[in-house]
Amino acid sequence: MHLSHILNHHGEERDKYFGAVAPPIIQTSNFAFKDLSSFRQAFVDELQSHLYTRGNNPTVKILRQKIAALEGAEDSLVFSSGSGAIANAVIANLQAGDHIICVQSPYSWTYNLVSNFLARFGVEHSFVDGTNLDSIKASIKENTRVLYLESPNSITFELQDLEACAKLAKEHNLISIIDATYASPLYQKPYQLGIDLSVHTCSKYLNGHSDVVAGVLSGSKAMIKKIFESEFMTLGGIISPNDAAMVIRGLRTLELRLERCSQSALKIASWLEKHPKVEKVVHPHLPSHPQYDLAKKQMQKCGGLFSIYLKTDSIKKVEAFHRKIKRFLLAVSWGGHESLLLPFCAFYGIPGRPDTTIPWNLVRIYIGLEDPDWLIEDLEQAMEVL
Ligand SMILES: *Cc1c(COP(=O)(O)O)cnc(C)c1O
Repeated sequence: MHLSHILNHHGEERDKYFGAVAPPIIQTSNFAFKDLSSFRQAFVDELQSHLYTRGNNPTVKILRQKIAALEGAEDSLVFSSGSGAIANAVIANLQAGDHIICVQSPYSWTYNLVSNFLARFGVEHSFVDGTNLDSIKASIKENTRVLYLESPNSITFELQDLEACAKLAKEHNLISIIDATYASPLYQKPYQLGIDLSVHTCSKYLNGHSDVVAGVLSGSKAMIKKIFESEFMTLGGIISPNDAAMVIRGLRTLELRLERCSQSALKIASWLEKHPKVEKVVHPHLPSHPQYDLAKKQMQKCGGLFSIYLKTDSIKKVEAFHRKIKRFLLAVSWGGHESLLLPFCAFYGIPGRPDTTIPWNLVRIYIGLEDPDWLIEDLEQAMEVL
């Protein structure tokens, strides 16, 4: 299916709603039946029928179909957050006594899910160096059921070889799951490389305007049905029809936005790499990245996210740098229209919390839709304090 068709038409049955170009927001919790037999029939397959919005809602279904098509997967589910999608995917495939292998330094709340939450329910875990297939292989145990990947992660950008991991998982009967948020469904297709479940937050590129929190997961029809009938309906982390319509609107410009972010980020990362006040730039599509060849092979482009290490021996100077920045916002998250800095020096000296193990001179940079030269000017003037 052509990307233009997916983003502009797929899943939208306009003849059912007056030819409206924008899909209707079917803001209802409940659906009524004209007779008993259609009521009975709705219970046979709740995912396909209109019974109750916790299960299926027509506006949400449009989004579901678009996401599955973007991933080249058979079906998908939409959640109220990316973390919700991750938790559903993982929990659905584990029970007490099982073991999960998870890559080192995943998204922070994934780390919490694996190390604290699952442990409460008797699930063991190992964190492994995902850049090394042998270390993944070596950590497989008799009770291992899930291999959890995040390629690349969103701070230090280590990759896993997705094709090799999918093959390894199949050989050992493991369910492979990936948080594929970084590259978006446009630039990396984990399901097509053999990964069982691909998860994205919509709060980043898919919605793209920093005004919705949501998440999606995609996989085979059978896997989606299994998750729907158990975790999805039980935990109830659904998106509202209104937010689903917002994400559908965001998707209209997904290709354009990602193209712009990718180009600008690569330009700014290359500029930074030559700057004397920058110790190191970590961007998977710069030849200096240790896994550059793999990144080129399995990711078409990289979007707007990368990190730099500032060259200074003083945290005070890093703080001064951030005080001088005018055109980037200081914030978590990414994937919207606006460029952001996430300074790791902010995670030092938080009352009641140990300092992060990530160096204080690391700055995660997200490049949004602004003019890249205008952003470079800002970085350049702020670098003067270093
Ligand atoms: C933001 C993010 C998440 C969590 O998504 P939410 O929608 O905020 O729950 C998970 N993984 C990655 C890589 C993220 O950047």
